[in-house]
Amino acid sequence: MPALTLAPAQPATTPRPLPLPAGGHADFFERIQAYNREVGRCSRCLFDVNTPHISFDDAGVCNYCHTCDQLEADHPTGKEGELILEKQIDEIKKAGKGKDYDLVVGVSGGCDSSWLIVKAKEWGLRPLAAHFDNTWNTTTATRNIHTVLEKLNVDLYTHVVDNEEFNDITRAFIKAGVIDIETPTDIALATTLYQACAKHKIKYQFEGHSFRTEGIGPLGWFYIDGKYVDSVVRQYGNYRQHRFKTFPNLTFARFMKYVVVDRVKKIRPLYWMDYHKEDAKQTLADEYGWEWYGGHHLENRFTTFLHSYYAPRRFGLDTRVVGYSALTRSGQMQRDEGIRLLTEPFHFDDEIVGIVKTRLGFSDEEFEETLRAPRAHWRDFKTYKPRFERLRPMFRIMAQMQLVPMSFYLKYTSKDGI
Ligand SMILES: [Zn+2]
Repeated sequence: MPALTLAPAQPATTPRPLPLPAGGHADFFERIQAYNREVGRCSRCLFDVNTPHISFDDAGVCNYCHTCDQLEADHPTGKEGELILEKQIDEIKKAGKGKDYDLVVGVSGGCDSSWLIVKAKEWGLRPLAAHFDNTWNTTTATRNIHTVLEKLNVDLYTHVVDNEEFNDITRAFIKAGVIDIETPTDIALATTLYQACAKHKIKYQFEGHSFRTEGIGPLGWFYIDGKYVDSVVRQYGNYRQHRFKTFPNLTFARFMKYVVVDRVKKIRPLYWMDYHKEDAKQTLADEYGWEWYGGHHLENRFTTFLHSYYAPRRFGLDTRVVGYSALTRSGQMQRDEGIRLLTEPFHFDDEIVGIVKTRLGFSDEEFEETLRAPRAHWRDFKTYKPRFERLRPMFRIMAQMQLVPMSFYLKYTSKDGI
């Protein structure tokens, strides 16, 4: 196959910029759809030439597909995967002896995390479920969490943040003009899981990520760190009023305590399993009273707002491409079908946009103005990134010991990783 002729890629850290809408949302979404139809893509997945850090081989296959192939090679499933998982499960059980629980599993009410709880119980583990309630859950998600846990007799550790305080933090991120408006939730979730571990002296966490069904997000789309949250909120929020009284920020000192002193390990069991999401959904529904909430990322209203409205509208970013690409690579979806799905309108709900405006105290005009204001980037704020880069050799060892995810080491400690 001949090599693709590629248009020059966008600067590495900038999500594909599209012109802001001239004639309202419909017009803008149409432009994205037209763009999706015309643009050059990887010959195997759906990533296009403007994906940050993308490169192609002579067959037009992108580097993200090659990374996934490497992950496949490093994480066998079937009998081999089973044996590796069994060994890990034995270690977890050994470390849990004499304690109330063997491990912490983060739950969201979504399919992957609910499935992990079911599997943990099947494997004879004693999980403690942990949840960060950012107060934007859908009722279906909340019901799912409680129904599944009650059925399996699993305890729940929840961190609930003060509504006003979290609204201020979220509003600050939107006003800052950055894309990472879910960073506060991601940081708080990580802290909550560590807190649950610290409280019960637990040494292991399960993470529900699967590169086969969820894929790998392009480097540089989103950035997460505690200092970034602090910096944005000090600049655009009412930090003086709440001083993160209930928001569990992950400072560098806390992060080091959890990984170096407590030595909590993160494990991704789905990497070693033949995980079929549709089958998992069916079993969860039939046997555990779990309910499908209609789409990836849709269990939380703010997540829905980010992926179906804010990212496409403000940054021209269609995050659906990540999941569809994963399914295309693993043969669970035809490539043509993926391309067709990308031309479909976003599942966006006016009601959710209305809720975001009301809850965060934006008037219609202020909200429109904010969404049209110049965009900013995480590099415009203070972050731990320079420190992560300086400590790269230490994080390499930590990643090898499973104390931090390998993806953290590769992305956050490299000068050109993100
Ligand atoms: Zn690809």
